[in-house]
Amino acid sequence: MEIKKINNLKVEINYYEAIYTIGIASDRLGVSVHTLRQYEAEGLILSHKTKTGRRIYSEMELDKVRCIKKMIQEQGLNFEGIRQLMSLIPCWKIRSCCDNDYEECKSYTSRKSPCWSTKEKCKHPYPDCRDCEVYRGLISCDDLKRFIYKL
Ligand code: SF4
Repeated sequence: MEIKKINNLKVEINYYEAIYTIGIASDRLGVSVHTLRQYEAEGLILSHKTKTGRRIYSEMELDKVRCIKKMIQEQGLNFEGIRQLMSLIPCWKIRSCCDNDYEECKSYTSRKSPCWSTKEKCKHPYPDCRDCEVYRGLISCDDLKRFIYKL
């Protein structure tokens, strides 16, 4: 649990829990609703979907959006470049897949998109990739380097 200040109120929140509607998330981030939809359509972030199809985001997604904005505005990357970078996350190592598993896995062979945004997903997907350590692991812009150096 983490204490955050929202509208001048201190609230205790679970970092991974989807609590923000798209309108609130866009206000908190200072980006348009269209931008959030676009990041999701480009496969860079995921959202929780309610039964009625409304998108809900967690603090984790808000931090991911901040990182993506930084990559676009400060490093001059475009969506394709960011997707390719994210596709380098060694999900097979993080998930400890065995050799036979990952060599046939589309997530391992694809260099175009992160595994969570591919149609096939990995060979042993979580029901919701938002719960997976691979999706959860890449939050700040330094995480990709950390993943690649440490694993
Ligand atoms: S469960 Fe989803 S995020 Fe995790 S490795 Fe599989 S496709 Fe990637």
